[in-house]
Amino acid sequence: MLKISSKHKKIVIKVGSAVLSNNNGGIKKKVMLNIADDIAMLSKNKEVVLVSSGSIAMGKKILPKMYEMSLAESQAIAAIGQVDLMLAWKEVFKKFSLNVGQILLTPKEIETKKDRNNAIKTINQLHKFGVIPVINENDTTATDEIQFGDNDLLAANIAKILGADLLILLSSIDGLYDNFSDARSRKIIREVNKINASVKKLAAGSGILGKGGMKSKIQAAEIMLKIGSEMVIANGDAKNPILALKKSLSGTWFKKG
Ligand code: GLU
Repeated sequence: MLKISSKHKKIVIKVGSAVLSNNNGGIKKKVMLNIADDIAMLSKNKEVVLVSSGSIAMGKKILPKMYEMSLAESQAIAAIGQVDLMLAWKEVFKKFSLNVGQILLTPKEIETKKDRNNAIKTINQLHKFGVIPVINENDTTATDEIQFGDNDLLAANIAKILGADLLILLSSIDGLYDNFSDARSRKIIREVNKINASVKKLAAGSGILGKGGMKSKIQAAEIMLKIGSEMVIANGDAKNPILALKKSLSGTWFKKG
């Protein structure tokens, strides 16, 4: 079954910067409202963790267009934009009587047992309070992240430490295409059962923008398949992008065959 079902009890949802913010650093409130609406529905009988990018995209609006940022500037911009990002999530979730709690993590903390356990405890406690945890990478210290990585891998690692059944990556693309460069005949691949060389080759030519692009999404899928869980890539701009996954309408699903 390629859909969100009752067997999925713990779900991590990652939303990419391009879904939440336009080129000028403007916040796509309608899209955020739509996602919050879906999460409010889903969280009625599932534990949901949101991993949200967008701090740099939103913070950048104080700089001139096309400005090439230094590492220190990106870190400061992330610190500025993180406030806009969380305020926006707080506002949209409030419409559904939900509150949010901010968690900033680095890969190093996830690898360190004591820090990892504290993070898990905090997330569990937020769920007990009925609050949606919203996680981003701590860009102040996780400098590798700003330079090379993105939140796909952070989300997969969070899903792993929480033992989540499903990771949903909401991107600006509908999924993995069988032949991206042929815009007229290309089709979305609905199901991938293992990550082999041909899947990696498709990812390399996927044309998706963003820091990690499709490559990091495939690495995230590898992590999820290894722990026996599932992952789906779907378009976050679509109307009710998460509830559509309950009806088996969209996305590329990664699950063991
Ligand atoms: N943590 C950074 C942000 O929120 C980068 C995230 C990404 O590109 O996935 O802007």
